[in-house]
Amino acid sequence: MTGVLLLNATYEPLSILSLRRAARLLLKERAEAVTGDNVWLVGPECSLAIPTVLRLRYYVNVPRRNSPAWTRRGVLERDRYTCAYCGKKCSPREATIDHITPVSRGGRSSWGNTVTACFRCNQRKADRTPHEAGMKLLIEPKLPRTCYLVIGGDVPAAWKLWLEL
Ligand SMILES: [Zn+2]
Repeated sequence: MTGVLLLNATYEPLSILSLRRAARLLLKERAEAVTGDNVWLVGPECSLAIPTVLRLRYYVNVPRRNSPAWTRRGVLERDRYTCAYCGKKCSPREATIDHITPVSRGGRSSWGNTVTACFRCNQRKADRTPHEAGMKLLIEPKLPRTCYLVIGGDVPAAWKLWLEL
């Protein structure tokens, strides 16, 4: 992955920048390195070593909407790909979204009505509420505290410290 992890002044992960955007922040002295791991941005005239983790020198107040937009991926990230019914850690391929109150009964795709479920538990629960299916939720579905930073592919080692992986 070629990108740079951008942290807020408070060290919260904010986003992933392209090397060019990272270079601009560095050159304008708006951000500083928090790791010694560099990647090279090779330009026609010069090359620049860019740290793979940058921290803003000033605090950015991330606007929190009343609730972050619901996404399938966001639910999986919130639950860390762990089935809410059996506690199994799922691979991204087998993790499914379960609507606690089924859609067929008017259940909505909201943070409070959706959890991560493994394929088997989702099949077993089918179009029923957990109570009807005799299944117990191991977690209480909540709004995520933060907007999840969704990262695909391999995560560089230097990022892991900041992402609590
Ligand atoms: Zn399960």
